[in-house]
Amino acid sequence: QTIKVRLKTNPYNILISESSADFVAAFKKVFRAKNIFIVTDSNVAKIHLKSFSDILKKAGFQTSFAVIPAGESGKSIASLSSLYDKALKAGLDRKGCVIALGGGVVGDVAGFFAATYMRGVKFVQAPTTLLAMTDSSVGGKTAVNTSGGKNIAGTFYQPSFVWINSFYLATLDERQLKNGLAEVVKYAFTFDKNFYDYLQDVLEKGIIGADEFNYMIFKSCSYKARVVEKDEKEVTGVRAVLNFGHTLAHAIETFTKYKKFLHGEAVAAGMLYAAKLSLDLKLCGKETFLQVKELLTAAGFVFNFKNLNALKLLELMKKDKKSVNASLRFVLLKDIGKSISDAEVKDGAALKTLKEFLREN
Ligand code: NAD
Ligand code: ZN
Repeated sequence: QTIKVRLKTNPYNILISESSADFVAAFKKVFRAKNIFIVTDSNVAKIHLKSFSDILKKAGFQTSFAVIPAGESGKSIASLSSLYDKALKAGLDRKGCVIALGGGVVGDVAGFFAATYMRGVKFVQAPTTLLAMTDSSVGGKTAVNTSGGKNIAGTFYQPSFVWINSFYLATLDERQLKNGLAEVVKYAFTFDKNFYDYLQDVLEKGIIGADEFNYMIFKSCSYKARVVEKDEKEVTGVRAVLNFGHTLAHAIETFTKYKKFLHGEAVAAGMLYAAKLSLDLKLCGKETFLQVKELLTAAGFVFNFKNLNALKLLELMKKDKKSVNASLRFVLLKDIGKSISDAEVKDGAALKTLKEFLREN
């Protein structure tokens, strides 16, 4: 299956396929030179680098590669700097292509690298985590962290092409899979009641095979692509809907120094909180809140917020870069599949709901 991302200056395709022949055929349409530089991380390198690079070699490309440390610590200026050196040594020139083979960390670093190496070379995403397949590989955000914080240095740089092969998910552990599911259910909550019903059914039964993953990825990428088309660089506000659950999530991640929770786990909490806030502000009914809770439970999220401090979280939410004039803004729900972006919420109301939320979970 192919999803088109119809951007004015740089439109591209997302190919969802387990066939490397499909990949090579589609790749050759966007890239005619020979020289490919693969960026991956130390975990993915052990499992998938050789077979991936063999596909390209067999197709007549010359490949070289660089491995960055696995995990968030790999999303650093040090990694970026090592990529410039390795690419130069490997002879990557302006006609070459960078391929990110890995999760969101690899995608973000390799994307930033591709955007800046010799003022920009072609870039292809080959995501290997569910989070990267359903979220980070589409949309063109690239970044590295600095000692000052997350995603501090970055730019928008769209890939020329995305190849999603759900076969890679077979080697991903349960916790990382669930991490990606949080973004998948996010699309259902904010855009699509039918997709909600589908996920509820599949996740409750707990049988998720290639077909189910491919469908989830297809739906997620389709929604993300539609939003990105309308607001490529996050200026019109349309893209804000993708932040459902993320206001509290970012505060939780900062408060726990990115150590205790994975992003998806924090987002799951943030979505439940946003649903409760929607209920408390009478934007949605009790039914909608319970439906959010049910799907998160079916997806396997359990909440344990001992040691989280409501006042501190509120303070962090107000500092969120998305808040305007220090007033709190949330994506809230009217119903499953119907969201309100950018709802302003008074500090007192947000805090009252947050205190209850932390007590209840
Ligand atoms: P990750 O890239 O750190 O991958 C998670 C772990 O899984 C790592 O240890 C990795 O080595 C391992 N791994 C990856 N693929 C594997 C596979 N197929 N088999 C076995 N192990 C595998 O984390 P992530 O959740 O994919 O991405 C998180 C990053 O993405 C964060 O830095 C976040 O800021 C960024 N992000 C970016 C965007 C965007 O729009 N650019 C959106 C969301 C998140
Ligand atoms: Zn997210």
